[in-house]
Amino acid sequence: MAAAGPGGSGSGVASSSESVARRRLLVLSGHLRGAPETSLSASQCRGRAVPSAESPPSTFPKRRQEILKWNGWGYSDSKFLFNKKGQAEFTGKRYRLGGTALPLLKEWIEKNLGGSLEHKSIPKHVPKCELSSVLRELPSNHEEKQGVNILASLNISDVPPAVTNEEFLQDLKVTNIPYSQDAEDRIFRAHGHCLHELFLLREGMFKRVPDIVVWPECHDDVVKIVELACKHNVCIIPFGGGTSVSSALECPADEKRTIVSLDTSQMNRIHWIDEKNLTARVEAGIVGQDLEKRLAESGYCTGHEPDSMEFSTLGGWVATRASGMKKNVYGNIEDLVVHIKMVTPRGVIEKSCQGPRMSTGPDIHHFMLGSEGTLGVVTEVTIKIRPVPEYQKYGSVVFPNFERGVACLREVAKQRCAPASIRLMDNEQFQFGHALKPQVASIFTSLLDGLKKFYITKFKGFDPNILCVATLLFEGSREKVLQHEKQVYDIAAKFGYDLRVLPSNA
Ligand SMILES: Cc1cc2nc3c(=O)[nH]c(=O)nc-3n(C[C@H](O)[C@H](O)[C@H](O)COP(=O)(O)OP(=O)(O)OC[C@H]3O[C@@H](n4cnc5c(N)ncnc54)[C@H](O)[C@@H]3O)c2cc1C
Repeated sequence: MAAAGPGGSGSGVASSSESVARRRLLVLSGHLRGAPETSLSASQCRGRAVPSAESPPSTFPKRRQEILKWNGWGYSDSKFLFNKKGQAEFTGKRYRLGGTALPLLKEWIEKNLGGSLEHKSIPKHVPKCELSSVLRELPSNHEEKQGVNILASLNISDVPPAVTNEEFLQDLKVTNIPYSQDAEDRIFRAHGHCLHELFLLREGMFKRVPDIVVWPECHDDVVKIVELACKHNVCIIPFGGGTSVSSALECPADEKRTIVSLDTSQMNRIHWIDEKNLTARVEAGIVGQDLEKRLAESGYCTGHEPDSMEFSTLGGWVATRASGMKKNVYGNIEDLVVHIKMVTPRGVIEKSCQGPRMSTGPDIHHFMLGSEGTLGVVTEVTIKIRPVPEYQKYGSVVFPNFERGVACLREVAKQRCAPASIRLMDNEQFQFGHALKPQVASIFTSLLDGLKKFYITKFKGFDPNILCVATLLFEGSREKVLQHEKQVYDIAAKFGYDLRVLPSNA
C-alpha cells in the first residue's frame, strides 16, 4: 500500500499514507463502535421496569404445547377431523372455517393423495395436555372422543436422554434465568415445520433433541447465556416461532456437547415507537401477530406478513431473511430493518447509528440476515413502520391456464404496478382451495356459486381442470386503491377474466 501511494516511496510517505488508510478505516468502521445504550439492563428486566401494560405476555406461553400442536402446524384445537358421516370438519373457533363441515375435502384427498378413510393411523404420541384441549372442542358423541383410550400420551423414554453439563447448569441457576429440562419442552424445540420433521414426530423420534430450554427475558440475559455457553463449551440453537422450513432447528445427531435451545418468546417488548422517523425498536422474540396488534394500537403496522406470521418472530424473520406477502409495497425484511443487535460468542455486534441508510463501510446487517442462528442471537431490532392503511381491497382474476396467468403477472411487473400482494395459484392449489369450501349456508349463496361456475366454465369456456387464479390485495387511500385496481384489472382483462361482475360473497 505504501509503495503504491502517490508521490514516491520514502518512509515518510509510507507512514502518511498509512495514517490516511487508518483514518479511512476509522470512517468505514465508525458506525460499529460505541453503540448507544438502548436495551434494558438485566436488573431492569428482572424487575420488569417496563409497565406490564406496555409488555403484555406473548400469545404463546413458555409451555407452548399447552395451546399449540406438538406434532403438526398451528393450534391444537384447530384441526381436520372426519365426522360420523365421513365428512371432513375443521375444529375450533379461531378461524372462519372452525366448526364447519367441508363436504368436498374427502373426495379431494381420495383423488389427489390416494388417501382412504379405511386406513387410519393414530399419531404415535399425543401429550395429555393437547389431548384434553382437542377433546374439549369435540361434541360429546364424537367418535374420537369415544375412542380416547386408543390415544397414547408422550412416552418420555422415547425422547433421547439429555446430555447434561453440570457446571453450565450450576452457573445458569445463579443467573435466575428460567430453564427447563422437561422432555416435552425439549422435543417441542427439536424441529421446525419441514414435512420430514412432522412425519418423524408422528411416526418415529429424533435421534438428538435439545438438552435444555432457556427463556431469556432481555438482551442482557442472552449475553449471560452466550458467555456461559462459551465458558462451558455448550452449543446454542436460537428458537423463535419454530416455523423453520430449512431444517435449521434440527440437532445434529452426532453432537456430543450439551445443546441449549434459546427460546426468545419472553423477549417481546416494544421499547419505543419513533413517530417522526417512523421506526420502532422491538425485542426479537415478538410473534408477528403480537407485533402487528400492538403497533396497530398506535395506528401503525410493519406490513411484513409472511404466511407464518401468526407464529413466526421478528428475530426469526431476520435470521431467515424472510419475505412477506405484501413485499411489493413494504419490501422484504432486509428492506424493513434499520438496526439489528446480535449477541455473538465474540461479543455484541451492532451499528452505533439508527439511521435508515449509510454510505460508508460494508453493511454488517447483510451477514446477520439469513444467518439462521449460526453467528449469534438477534436480541433487538429497529424496524420501519407505516400508518395502518386506510383502505384494503381484495380481488381475484381467473385465467384459462397457468401460462396466461404468468404472462399477466409479468405484464403487471413490467408496468411496475403490482398491488401489495399478487399471487398466482396453479390449478392444483385452486382445486384444493375449492375443496376447502364449507357447506353453503343458503340457497342464494349456492345459486351464486353455481352461476359463477357456469359463467366461467360454460360461457367463458375455461376448463376447471386447467384454469388458474390470481389473488390480489390493494392497500392505501381509497382513491388510490380504486385507481390502482383499475390499472391492474385493465391489464388482467387482456389475459383472463375478473370476477367483480358477480357479487363477491359467492
Ligand atoms: C406454513 C408456513 C408458511 C411460511 N411462510 C413463509 C413466508 O411467507 N415467507 C418466508 O420468508 N418464510 C415463510 N415460512 C418459513 C418461516 O416461517 C420463516 O423462515 C420464519 O422467518 C422463521 O421464523 P421463526 O421465528 O419461526 O424462526 P424459527 O423457525 O424458530 O428459526 C428459524 C431459524 O432462525 C434462527 N433464529 C430464530 N430466532 C433467532 C434469533 N432471535 N436470533 C438468531 N437466530 C434466530 C433459528 O435458530 C433457526 O435457524 C413459512 C413456514 C411455514 C411452515
